This record gives sequence, structure tokens and C-alpha cells, in this order.
Amino acid sequence: MIVIVLVLGGCSSKRDDAANCIVEEYLLGADIILSVEGKNDQKACADTVQRISEIQNRMTIHNPGSEIMNINKYAGEKKVFISGDTFFVLEQALIFAELTGGSFDPTIGPLVKLWGIGTGNYRIPGEDEIREHKLLVDYHNLMLSCDGDGYTAYLPRKGQVVDLGAIAKGYAGDEARRILINHGIERGIINLGGNVVALGRKKDGSLWRVGIQNPMAPRGTYLGIVQVEDKAVVTSGGYERNFIKDGQRYHHIIDPGTGHPADSGLISVTIIAGQGVEADALSTGAYVLGLIRGIELIESLPGVEAIFITENKKIYTTGGIRDCFQLTDRDYSHEEI
Ligand code: AMP
Ligand code: MG
Repeated sequence: MIVIVLVLGGCSSKRDDAANCIVEEYLLGADIILSVEGKNDQKACADTVQRISEIQNRMTIHNPGSEIMNINKYAGEKKVFISGDTFFVLEQALIFAELTGGSFDPTIGPLVKLWGIGTGNYRIPGEDEIREHKLLVDYHNLMLSCDGDGYTAYLPRKGQVVDLGAIAKGYAGDEARRILINHGIERGIINLGGNVVALGRKKDGSLWRVGIQNPMAPRGTYLGIVQVEDKAVVTSGGYERNFIKDGQRYHHIIDPGTGHPADSGLISVTIIAGQGVEADALSTGAYVLGLIRGIELIESLPGVEAIFITENKKIYTTGGIRDCFQLTDRDYSHEEI
């Protein structure tokens, strides 16, 4: 079967290559598209979808039966048993929370719920409520343990909520890649609603071209292209989920320091890294940190690159990606920091 593949970009998409097997599913709150090529591709894709679905079932906050919701349910009461999978992602989340100085915080849940993010019922809370909920957000409180009995997690205060919305898709991308490779797949694109993992190179030996979404244009419109091989390309953008009230836009990335949607002057941050889990956590964290502190953090991490887009249409890239990023939209300008 020959199909035109949507080679998806860090959030946008463009027709670019052909693959033998394309699978589309809706999981983890995103359109998942696998486009891969290899001998065993049908089985590889089926197993990958099953694995992503397993990750969703364990980590979503949209199903009261998930492991994460179980941790939240027993906050302030008792520790709960979790799978090695969920333990690993929580452990990674704590590492990136520390690295970003708490700008990425997996215990952001009380504030996410307060603003109604993801429920369709957004609202602007009062400052008193924000202050109260902010007190519940602190990743230092999340206790993980692993002993002879198994893996456990515990939130010590009632009302605390873990939300892995900013990291679980990154992990799913890493797991998808692992499974595809185990099935002998050497090349392909895994797209989890804009979180892209490029596997290998294209058939002709060239690099994958990943489109970076234009944050001010309809989904699928890209403003530039980044060329990668074996990398995760993950974008966090205030344009992804938001609402407008009295001319003001409120979006889904919350600054744990203020309790409000991050107001850092950025409209999107794309991270290019070896692992999806780090790209996902860092894209959210860097968005909250803003351009100066964000770029400083990313430059300090070996093998991690970033593209920052500001509200006034300026693009800043880290040194290592400057030559691999091609700006295609003349409304924007590529600046030096
Ligand atoms: P992303 O699109 O990866 O930036 O993730 C955004 C999602 O992560 C939101 O919809 C929330 O569920 C959650 N979230 C929002 N703000 C934060 C934050 N500062 N740290 C961690 N997770 C967050
Ligand atoms: Mg993220």
C-alpha cells in the first residue's frame, strides 16, 4: 500500500514523504499518527497503539480509574501502588521540576482544575482562590518509593493533584519509538498531537523535515522547518488551548509561581532532544521561564536545542540548531539573542 504521509512537524504538518503503514488513533487527548516503513510495520503499529493506550489508561487525569487519579484520590490519606511505568514518569517529572526551578511542576493539578483547563469550562478564578490553590502546588511534596512491596506514590495534603499532561505524551513517544525499533522499524514519524519523534532518516538518506507550527495561524500552517534525525521535537504553545475573555487570552500553561497562565512574552517553545520525555517537560518549563531564562537553561543542557517564538513574532534559537532551522514565513524574523 502506498500512501502519502503527513510528515508532521513539531506541530504542524506537511506532505513530505511516503510510508507503508499509517495508523491514526485518538489517544492521550491527541490525534496520534504513526507513519512507518518496515517489514513488520502493521504489527509494529498495532503494538505501538496498544502501548500508548496502556500509558493513557495509567496516567490520564480524565479517567477516575487511572493510577494518577488514584494517587490524587488518596491525597492526604495514604500512599498508593503504581506501575513501574507511572513511577518512571513521576520520577522523570521530579527531575525536570528540579531542573526548571519548579516552572514545570507535575503537582500543578489544583491550578489546572481551578482554571477549568481541559474541561471546556474555563473560568477566571478570584485571586483568593488562586492563592489558596497555589499553596497546594509543590513537587517537593510528591513522595515516591520503591521497596520490596513495589512502587508507590503519595501526596501528603488533601486537594493536591498530580497532572502529567505536560510530560506523558513525551514518554509515549519514547515508548512508541522503542517498540517500533524492537520490531525492526528503522524509519518513520511518530506524531502525538504535535509531539513528534523522528525515527532514523528518510529513505533517501536525507533528514526528516519537521514543520514548526505558526502560532498565529490555523493548525497545520508552519512558519519554519527544522531538519532532524532520531530526535523528539515537542512544542508547547499558548495557542493550543485557550479562551478569550474581555479581549484577554487565557491559555493552558500555568505559571506555578503566579497561579495564572504563563505571561512570559512567548507564544511557543519547541524543544529538540534525544528523548521525548525531556523535550516535553522542558518545552512546558521553558515556556513558563520565558526567553532569557529559558534559553539559558536549554543552552546548559547537552544535546538539547530550542526554538522560542515571542508574541512580537521574533524567533530565537539555541546555537546548536541555528543552521538546521529554516524560517519560511517572512512575517517572522530570526534574531540573535
Ligand atoms: P504542554 O502542552 O506539554 O506544555 O502541557 C500543558 C499541560 O500540562 C496543561 O494542559 C496542563 O495539564 C499541564 N500543565 C500546565 N501548566 C503546567 C506546568 N507549569 N507544569 C507542568 N504541567 C503543566
Ligand atoms: Mg510539555
